[in-house]
Amino acid sequence: MNEALRPNSIAKRDVAVHLHSQTNPKYLAEHGPLVVSEGSGVHITDSDGKAYLDAMAGLWCATLGFTNERLAAAASEQYSKLGFYHTFFNRTMDKATELAEKLVDLTGMAGGKAYFATSGSEANETMIKLAWVYHTVRGKPTKRKVIARERAFHGSTIVGASLCGLSFMHREFGLPLPGFLHTSAPFPYRGMREGEDEAAYVARLCADLERLIVSEGPDTIAAFIAEPIYAGGGIIVPPETYFAEIQKVLKKYDILALSDEIVCGFGRTGNWFGKDTVGYEPDMMALAKGLSSGHFPISAVVAKGEIYDAVYAFNEAGGNFGHGFTNSGHPVGLAVALEAIAIYEEMDVVDHVRRMGARLSGHFNELAKTSPIIGEVRGAGLMWGIELVEDKDTRAPFAPDLKVGLSFDHIAYENGLICRCMDDTLGYAPPLIVGEADVDEIAEKTEKSLRALEKQLG
Ligand code: PLP
Repeated sequence: MNEALRPNSIAKRDVAVHLHSQTNPKYLAEHGPLVVSEGSGVHITDSDGKAYLDAMAGLWCATLGFTNERLAAAASEQYSKLGFYHTFFNRTMDKATELAEKLVDLTGMAGGKAYFATSGSEANETMIKLAWVYHTVRGKPTKRKVIARERAFHGSTIVGASLCGLSFMHREFGLPLPGFLHTSAPFPYRGMREGEDEAAYVARLCADLERLIVSEGPDTIAAFIAEPIYAGGGIIVPPETYFAEIQKVLKKYDILALSDEIVCGFGRTGNWFGKDTVGYEPDMMALAKGLSSGHFPISAVVAKGEIYDAVYAFNEAGGNFGHGFTNSGHPVGLAVALEAIAIYEEMDVVDHVRRMGARLSGHFNELAKTSPIIGEVRGAGLMWGIELVEDKDTRAPFAPDLKVGLSFDHIAYENGLICRCMDDTLGYAPPLIVGEADVDEIAEKTEKSLRALEKQLG
């Protein structure tokens, strides 16, 4: 018997009653779950007392670590003052106003307005409804379709999953919904052809997008959505001119630019927002995860002034922006988010992430020099991917059924390191509070695990 599954243990009871997200049921039944009991700084501890450095900040979100006294105090104070209220029907709270002001200011959205929701998926869906209202008010109600990109991850609700460009989010559900389209991913390592330079590659990606728009009919396309740097799709940084060139195509066809900053926001890429790292100028941005360091489920959309003007005009013309979630602007979420942002400002998150990111990528690049199976190290700030390949020269991937990335995950886990394989790309997005010793620990455990994997592969 697997020791973790001893009778009456939490693991055993959990397997009996708990349906997990993105989990293989057979593996869960055989091995039991990791029962996480405590967290401190960048480490978590399981129910047997074993510590792991979680180099994925949970789900790219625990930016300030797994416990934080200040966030706990902000939540507790707010709970004692007002544990619930909402933002429907003209209601607000001081912290809703303050957080909206802060987000508009930080994002630099001209005349912007902030909308609150609970999850990243809801924020992305909100942007799409706003895009529909915007075009309708401007006399273009047929502009309904949304273009996302292959390899994208945008959420798990039916629309969120439709926006994803990953087959494992679609296959079993008959998705994407009609009207959710996908254009080519900017993925230099895998997508650039021999002899093609970056400018030619970007021109080809723009041509792909334009062909899709024209074939669907420009008067049917409402919006384009992109993560500035791909997260779940394999941590992929686009070519430098990609967004500037793509935006020329979007402007030509009157298509709104949406930025999914759910992972990239709040310092992750070495700037306050990923859009600044990649030169993207969106009309709307979706924020979540780092907004509250994952310590409370809260998300937000920040939209340019003209989007709000459309909502205003829509209502004036007899329409209704029939949208809102019970917890849109939950007071405790607002309090936690305001405190998280105050901490980011005090720690100078951008400078810290740049320094720690340089140290982490330095270690990974050194490792790549001596490892025969590291094809590419890529990323920005504190968001890095290591792609493992069978042949470094030809970039030939390992056969998928070897599950090399997953094997690394298991070895690393035994070594007390949690990262995340995306096929054969190892993903790292540690809490932004990592110090030098933490970064070195991630690198040491990665090297140890990689050497064991290399040996296993023979
Ligand atoms: N967008 C991106 C880039 C994400 O990584 C995620 C979640 O991982 C989402 C959207 C969906 O967020 P949520 O799970 O809060 O709905």
